[in-house]
Amino acid sequence: MAAAKLRPVYCTREGCSKTWDQDPALTVACPDCKAPPGSPCKRPSEHPLPFREIHGARDLAADDAFAYGPCPLGHCGKRNKEAREARESARQAADEPQLSFI
Ligand SMILES: [Zn+2]
Ligand SMILES: [Zn+2]
Repeated sequence: MAAAKLRPVYCTREGCSKTWDQDPALTVACPDCKAPPGSPCKRPSEHPLPFREIHGARDLAADDAFAYGPCPLGHCGKRNKEAREARESARQAADEPQLSFI
């Protein structure tokens, strides 16, 4: 059986040049199909997903484990998204007129 060919993956965000030799999602187990770390995602039939795709839940789990590392743009991934949202809601709160509690 031929060894699984590693394919480089790259950040899908426009302007982000980050690449990985192997999908970092493979470093964690898939919460969806239960594929162990290092194994590609499987269908219920035990066949690999076409194009060695990864379940979305595994992507998120890898992001949680910081498998993707920092984004050079400081943009991609859940942590950056949460930080961005926190900044935005802080700005919105600052823009809102102060309510007085009299
Ligand atoms: Zn999976
Ligand atoms: Zn990125």
